[in-house]
Amino acid sequence: MIPTFRSQLFIDGEYVPAASGHTFPVFNPANNEVLAEVARAGSEEVERAVAAARRAFDEGPWPKMKTAERAKRLRRLAELLLEHAAELERIESLDVGKPLKESGGHDIPRAANNFAFFADALSQWTQDAHWGEGNWLGQEVNLLSVTLRQPLGVAAIIVPWNSPMMLGTWKLAPCLAVGCTAVLKPSELAPLSLLKLGEIAQKAELPPGVLNVLTGFGEVGAALVAHPRVDAVSFTGGVATGKQVMRAAADTLKRISLELGGKSPNIVFADADLESAVNGAVRAIFRSQGQSCVAGSRLLLQESVYDRFLERLLAAVAQLKVGDPLDPTTDFGPLISPQHRQRVEGFIQSGLDEGARLLVGGTRPRDPALQRGNYLLPTVFAGVTGTMRICREEIFGPVLTVQRFRDEEEAIRLANDTTYGLAGFIWTRDVNRALRVASAVKTGMVWVNSFFLRDLRTPFGGARESGIGREGGRYSLEFYTEPKFVCVPYTAL
Ligand code: NDP
Repeated sequence: MIPTFRSQLFIDGEYVPAASGHTFPVFNPANNEVLAEVARAGSEEVERAVAAARRAFDEGPWPKMKTAERAKRLRRLAELLLEHAAELERIESLDVGKPLKESGGHDIPRAANNFAFFADALSQWTQDAHWGEGNWLGQEVNLLSVTLRQPLGVAAIIVPWNSPMMLGTWKLAPCLAVGCTAVLKPSELAPLSLLKLGEIAQKAELPPGVLNVLTGFGEVGAALVAHPRVDAVSFTGGVATGKQVMRAAADTLKRISLELGGKSPNIVFADADLESAVNGAVRAIFRSQGQSCVAGSRLLLQESVYDRFLERLLAAVAQLKVGDPLDPTTDFGPLISPQHRQRVEGFIQSGLDEGARLLVGGTRPRDPALQRGNYLLPTVFAGVTGTMRICREEIFGPVLTVQRFRDEEEAIRLANDTTYGLAGFIWTRDVNRALRVASAVKTGMVWVNSFFLRDLRTPFGGARESGIGREGGRYSLEFYTEPKFVCVPYTAL
């Protein structure tokens, strides 16, 4: 299967070039060859895309369509994504450097499921009615207050490069389900799968303007956030950019949802099933080469199993197959760009300078076949303290720090010694301890004896500097709708 790329902007139901004629190259992280020259949107295209989305919302059929009909189109989108899965997973692997095991085994099926799930969620979503009493002009009345949830309008959906299809559709599906329209902005580093979504939207007969996809740099995202005719911004990305989005959205008081970074603790107690915990720890940090918001980047080990666990962990890391993302046996691919690899290498150097002990990795692979890609070996540091940069800052790469703890109290203190609060992982056979620690850890999500198992109804997102708002099930449906109560008094007998 040789994938074909879309390189133009998707506006008002059609693929169009940028009016300026400007393009930018998109690279394959496995060899740094150019995959495509993609249109670079400017302010003119932002205006056109917002106008199209606005028209589709204010005058088009989409928000007024029967929910069953909208749900049908979303199901069609899900089916089409699966029909095109072989091509889409290759596009994602080529563009992001994600092993096929992940793009094909997880991300593309999950993208399809995002649409199928929200098509179903729509029919299960209940809205509130309150019965009460009041006094109207001296007369006792009963009150029926009904809460309507109406589609908010035009949403700007801004996503990062690490899992474009999974994250983009995770926002887009509920947005479209409730009747909103969208301008979707992928990262310039990996825009190809989401550009292809335009083609799929055409096949699913989404009305023109319901979905628009703009490729460009951060200034396109910034223009969307500032735009007075955009009603909401759903953003996934770094903390610093998230703060900029929040500031910029204040001028027009837009509703915002921010899914930001993390430095998530992975806590292993001595009574854990160690084999399962080792497996989980390796996945939690090295899946997507550590370029994952929920990466379990801080491993906290109880001292009585410290040596045993590390020995097994290093053996499991040695088993990871580093290689071409398109090879179905590859576990670990390249990082997204040479600049990002350099940044991660800077962290590794800082770990060495600050006295952490490098147990494995820390360098580029020697394999001649991998020299042209942005590869960096899975890296584990022991002897880490909470003041080191590698322990405090989100690296967003394959670097695991290991700390040891004596007891539950110390584990919780170390876990919470961060400004982030996205996820936490707890490995223990003691259900009481699991629940105690889960409630003490200051994060939006906790996985016990598991990693990234998802029920799409649950609230996904972070506490503290990991974000604002939650996505999933009714949390997403609520984000894209405006609650309005309608009060109907009726006379008391
Ligand atoms: P960035 O924050 O750099 O970029 C995210 C998106 O925002 C990109 O599409 C980017 O465009 C756009 N953007 C850049 N500047 C602005 C601006 N001023 N206003 C609006 N949009 C802007 O993140 P990365 O792409 O580097 O992704 C890595 C980060 O994403 C990590 O910190 C990671 O933790 C976080 N993340 C969080 C997840 C979560 O669910 N919590 C999931 C996945 C990642 P462009 O790239 O074209 O400049």
